[in-house]
Amino acid sequence: MELWFLGTGAGRPMKHRNVTSIALKLPDPDCSLWMFDAGEGTQHQLMRTPLKLNKLEALFVTHLHGDHTYGIPGLLSTRSYVGGNTPLQLFGPPGIREMIETALTLSSSRLDYEITYHEVSEGIVYKTERYTVEALPLEHRVPCFGYRITECESPGKLNVERLQQLGVPSGPLFGRIKKGEDVTLPDGTVVRAADVAGKPQCGRIITIAGDTKPCDNALRLAQNADLLVHEATFAAGQEEKAHLYGHSTTIEAATTARDANAKRLIMTHFSTRFVDEDLAGLEEEARTIFPESYAAHDLYHTEIPRPRG
Ligand SMILES: [Zn+2]
Ligand SMILES: [Zn+2]
Repeated sequence: MELWFLGTGAGRPMKHRNVTSIALKLPDPDCSLWMFDAGEGTQHQLMRTPLKLNKLEALFVTHLHGDHTYGIPGLLSTRSYVGGNTPLQLFGPPGIREMIETALTLSSSRLDYEITYHEVSEGIVYKTERYTVEALPLEHRVPCFGYRITECESPGKLNVERLQQLGVPSGPLFGRIKKGEDVTLPDGTVVRAADVAGKPQCGRIITIAGDTKPCDNALRLAQNADLLVHEATFAAGQEEKAHLYGHSTTIEAATTARDANAKRLIMTHFSTRFVDEDLAGLEEEARTIFPESYAAHDLYHTEIPRPRG
């Protein structure tokens, strides 16, 4: 599972930093792409990565501010041109449907696929065979949601050699044992799943918060997350200004990560006042509170391993 930062800036694009978008590449067997926000120019940024737009299966929008949404109509349009013809799930706060449908309709854009719109409210907003996505409202100047992606536990590996020794024929019985079921063979032998299957592997938890002041819901979404992505629009000491605009500082992002018992924090959505050389300093500020803090830059990407145990 890989997370890519396509844009890490707040407000407006800069020469060295694009506005906000994040892509999550799901591992086998899904191999699909989920995206979170798509500010202007997101599709250009995507072209600078190995990620494939036709694999985009779901787009989660935190809020309707332009630095998170102005790239969506273009992105959806291009998806058609590059062979994306499977249905797309589009999540966002109320108004997302009107915003995107209006842009696509008035521009006479014709897509080769269906969009299913989900105007989200608090709670579980999406469930697939392997993932559950929960949304909670944050505290920003307009309705804004954070998303928590929970991967389900994966069954332990089968000891195929042992199964063969016990005379278990490959096929459906393997599947039942993998799910943790004990099975009885035709000769009456009972094969206990615990004896022939490894321990199930824990799933990953990834929290992607939108623009927000520090708030309880950000803390709830980030609880025990393997990775928390949190905005840090402002530096330490600028709390008053940050709150005035519905944003957070490095120190506040790090405090949320620490208090939520998250394993790692990646900060993004930096104010245009910061240049790339400032990022190390922002990272240092956050690390005074939460040592596993990192500042993302455009095209920064990271592997998210499965938690041990
Ligand atoms: Zn923003
Ligand atoms: Zn905003």
